[in-house]
Amino acid sequence: MGSCKILVVEDDTPVRNLITITLKAHNYQFITAVDGKNAIMETASHNPDIILLDLGLPDIDGVDVIKQVRSWSNVPIIVISARNEDVDKIDALDAGADDYLTKPFSVDELLARLRVTQRRLALIQPSAASQSSYDNGGLHIDYDTGCAYLSGEELHLTALEYKLLCLLARNTGKVLTHRFIIQNVWGSNWESGLGTLRVLMASLRKKLEETAGAPQYIQTHIGIGYRMLKIEQ
Ligand code: CA
Repeated sequence: MGSCKILVVEDDTPVRNLITITLKAHNYQFITAVDGKNAIMETASHNPDIILLDLGLPDIDGVDVIKQVRSWSNVPIIVISARNEDVDKIDALDAGADDYLTKPFSVDELLARLRVTQRRLALIQPSAASQSSYDNGGLHIDYDTGCAYLSGEELHLTALEYKLLCLLARNTGKVLTHRFIIQNVWGSNWESGLGTLRVLMASLRKKLEETAGAPQYIQTHIGIGYRMLKIEQ
């Protein structure tokens, strides 16, 4: 999965070196930036395929870097955060980040996050937005007729379950926050909707997932949100 150009934004030299040595060993190309201003400049001038972004930067807050980059680019951004508070990750995901890693992280975890993002890229590149159907493992969604199937059997979904499923499917590989999901499914105040989302998610999973305790399609990120996984064939 090499030949992908990655911008590494990290002011902490040992961490930056760990990342670049790992990338080099796995045949990724990379460029580096040590602060937010340079991160934005490098993104504009080198057009990386993926950005690995530390949130705690010396000049601009990482979340503001995401907002600025998102104003003109859809490049996948994986946030690297030393902060334990989920709120920072949620702010970053809401601002448009795709995924996150918490420091300290293992090299294997970093490589796994990169592969998830590359699979997501491969999935969205043939302009998924304009596609009329979706296939992932045994799941098939026909957007034109508004029907979803699991292993060829139609899923009898409510309108809201279908809406939730499509939102997750269109963002396969990306962590969606509770806030983002609630705003896109109900368009309402998110705080009052968290319980409602949990109930809706449980009823969708009951129909979609074969084993209740081991969801295959929809992954839970405790305190943060959910992600539709790309099923390996
Ligand atoms: Ca830092």
